[in-house]
Amino acid sequence: MNNVFVYCEIEGTTVAEVSQELLTKGRKLANQLGVELHAVVAGTGIKGKVEDQILPYGVDKLFVFDGEGLFPYTSAPHTDILVNLFKEEKPQIALMGATVIGRDLGPRVSSSLTSGLTADCTQLEIGDYDEKKTGQHYENLLYQIRPAFGGNIVATIVNPDHRPQMATVRSGVMQKALYDGKAKNEVVYPEVAKYVPEFDYVVKVLDRHVEAAQNNLKAAPIVVAGGYGMGSKEGFDMLFQLAKELHGEVGASRAAVDAGWIAADRQVGQTGVTVHPKVYIACGISGQIQHIAGMQDAGIIISVNSDPDAPINQIADYVITGTVEEVVPKLIKYYKSNTK
Ligand SMILES: Cc1cc2nc3c(=O)[nH]c(=O)nc-3n(C[C@H](O)[C@H](O)[C@H](O)COP(=O)(O)OP(=O)(O)OC[C@H]3O[C@@H](n4cnc5c(N)ncnc54)[C@H](O)[C@@H]3O)c2cc1C
Repeated sequence: MNNVFVYCEIEGTTVAEVSQELLTKGRKLANQLGVELHAVVAGTGIKGKVEDQILPYGVDKLFVFDGEGLFPYTSAPHTDILVNLFKEEKPQIALMGATVIGRDLGPRVSSSLTSGLTADCTQLEIGDYDEKKTGQHYENLLYQIRPAFGGNIVATIVNPDHRPQMATVRSGVMQKALYDGKAKNEVVYPEVAKYVPEFDYVVKVLDRHVEAAQNNLKAAPIVVAGGYGMGSKEGFDMLFQLAKELHGEVGASRAAVDAGWIAADRQVGQTGVTVHPKVYIACGISGQIQHIAGMQDAGIIISVNSDPDAPINQIADYVITGTVEEVVPKLIKYYKSNTK
């Protein structure tokens, strides 16, 4: 009872990476609280196919709901699985991906349980809280941390009284790692009909088209990112050349995406992708908080900017002061000659 739960999302029989990232985070939170990490997954024909993708992340107990009509995802059956399971298990924390599915499922579950939910958290921690009005002291609450008011502040949100404390997190924000400690690894296969009434299956998915990702930005070891300082679409052509030399991917700031110079799925930041490359080369990017939120964990940050006082230079490991028109062609030339 009062454990940490992670809802694991699937595509067919493949568990989503964001769920594995959350299992790693959930394990850390459970260890801090001295409770168990539980996971729940629902789909069709998944028994025996998903367990190995979930248990190694330190799961003590996995609930596998396997039945017709549970894949592709539809709102009602998955909501009832979580609502009814949570009524039985009374978790203190429940986490899910801030994905299309998580954004549909999370609010339904939290409103059914009147529990509250913080969307798009960038950090999750455990801490105490003093309620100033009543003077009441709360221990070991989930700090649900996320940018607020247009990203101008970082808010820490707590949910003192209602359970579970629910949060969604975007893919790539947490990092997954297999657990090298001990976990119970128990697996149970509850009878789906006990949790999902027949009328929940009223929506049938007749046709489904899933578009494959157009780039590998999230997992790229080197990201060459351009901002408004790139000046044009042609400016980004230079970045694609540089990325090709470095075997990296091209990212962008929102200002460059809004200008129409690059596709929106390459936007890095609070409302884009979160990246953790070994090297991040920021070209003509000023470094506003919303951009930094998506790349600050990069191993090495190199800034190319004509303004020596650009805010990004404060977090950069190396700063090249100059225009992108002057610097980027030189980078391409020297990387080319170095790799010959
Ligand atoms: C709710 C919200 C969410 C947001 N989410 C995101 C997000 O996910 N990602 C994101 O990036 N932004 C996001 N933003 C926007 C963010 O606030 C900034 O507006 C944006 O990041 C600025 O992009 P930029 O650095 O490319 O442009 P600018 O701030 O205009 O900076 C351009 C930089 O280029 C330099 N420069 C100019 N010319 C040259 C040259 N020839 N050579 C070299 N350098 C040059 C300038 O010195 C400057 O530093 C968000 C904003 C809000 C309100």
